[in-house]
Amino acid sequence: MTQSLSGQRRAETRLDAGTRGGPVVVVGAGPYGLSVAAHLRAAGVEVRVFGEVMGSWRHSMATGMFLKSTPAATDLSAPVPGGRLADFCRAAGEPELTELTPIPCETFVRYGMWFTQRYVGTVETSRVTAVERCGVGFAVRLEGGGEIEAAAVVVATGLATFAYIPGALLPLAPGGPGPRAVLSHTSQHTDLSEYAGQRVAVVGGGQSALESAALLHEAGADAEVLVRDARVRWGVRPKLQRPWGQRLAAPASPLGTGWALAAICGAPGAVRRLPAAARMQLFRRALGPSGGWWLRERVEGVVPVRTSCRVERAHRSGAEVHLRVGGAGGGPADHVVDHVLAATGYRLDVDALPFLAAPVRRAVGRVPGSQAPRLSGAFESSVTGLYFTGSLAAPMFGPMLRFVAGTEFAARRIAGRLARQGPRR
Ligand SMILES: Cc1cc2nc3c(=O)[nH]c(=O)nc-3n(C[C@H](O)[C@H](O)[C@H](O)COP(=O)(O)OP(=O)(O)OC[C@H]3O[C@@H](n4cnc5c(N)ncnc54)[C@H](O)[C@@H]3O)c2cc1C
Repeated sequence: MTQSLSGQRRAETRLDAGTRGGPVVVVGAGPYGLSVAAHLRAAGVEVRVFGEVMGSWRHSMATGMFLKSTPAATDLSAPVPGGRLADFCRAAGEPELTELTPIPCETFVRYGMWFTQRYVGTVETSRVTAVERCGVGFAVRLEGGGEIEAAAVVVATGLATFAYIPGALLPLAPGGPGPRAVLSHTSQHTDLSEYAGQRVAVVGGGQSALESAALLHEAGADAEVLVRDARVRWGVRPKLQRPWGQRLAAPASPLGTGWALAAICGAPGAVRRLPAAARMQLFRRALGPSGGWWLRERVEGVVPVRTSCRVERAHRSGAEVHLRVGGAGGGPADHVVDHVLAATGYRLDVDALPFLAAPVRRAVGRVPGSQAPRLSGAFESSVTGLYFTGSLAAPMFGPMLRFVAGTEFAARRIAGRLARQGPRR
């Protein structure tokens, strides 16, 4: 009997995947890593989780920030009922959250810690410094020198390494951006009050830009927001009770109301089957930059916001920063400030993951038109046993994967697959 080469390869791949030794290693202990780990542990799969529990929410968000998502869209995925944000609030005696209550980041961090104790158990705080191919599995190296063999690796490291700053601003910080340089990215701050009394240009028009500007202003800084688009978009205050006609015309989803969002959120697996170009269009266009409805009164008429403008050039003169601002927005072309805060988002790029060895990175197939990984229906990349979840999976499964709301779909798919084939305790 003969077997085609591709058929033989497929059979070998299945065999490899089923016979690899060592635990599943989850790199990252944010909402996605914790949710996958919870499901794997419940399924009896040996798993080791590395990272700081809710690390990004402790170190990449400024004090005083709130989540933009609503409580119903902010649940981590637990393998059994009882692990929702509302359950945590009840158990911890925290005030009940409604659609009209912005969630403080601190509350979300406490929820993540409670969830970890209840469903995940041990999380090892060591950072993963390298993931290399080793036989049919992986060698995972840890900060401090340890090394373990893993049958499979789930990358759940969030956005931090993808922070993007436009080229026009980069000459301001030849030594790299940061809170002590004259240029920084919003992900580098936990305390914006250090800019009290300073002139700060906030570049960007999304939630990070607008909320940072509000916090800067409230801390006594002289902030101005420079927005590329012609206007700032604001979310709409949710209605607690909607008549059935409205609910039918624009059904609710974790990302907002309307049939398009409901479809995207209801069927991320179907999004994956769309042509790559359509998926990328969805990834780029759905849910563009906007500010949360509850933030509006802290910005409009309070903090100067200049729209239709673009920073064309930036240079430093002594302690001051000179920005050349072009576009139809009017206002002075030359801007002098003490600090520039880039709220300019993130660019997904597998090559920017510092811990993936170069041969592994090279072997990860990409979504056409992006540097995000091409993934199977179970979030596995073209490198057998290497999974990606969270924002990196959004160009495959749609915008829900950029948010906590995507943890349920991702965790069940990944854990389901690994539990069927993976190593057992
Ligand atoms: C400013 C801002 C506001 C946001 N607001 C919302 C919101 O309101 N609602 C919402 O749903 N989403 C929001 N998001 C999106 C949010 O990032 C995700 O929803 C969520 O945090 C993604 O979870 P994650 O587990 O993928 O990543 P993260 O939460 O970023 O967690 C990453 C984890 O990886 C760990 N890690 C990183 N590198 C390593 C390494 N080398 N070794 C070991 N561990 C490592 C970190 O310590 C951390 O534990 C926001 C994002 C930003 C930037």
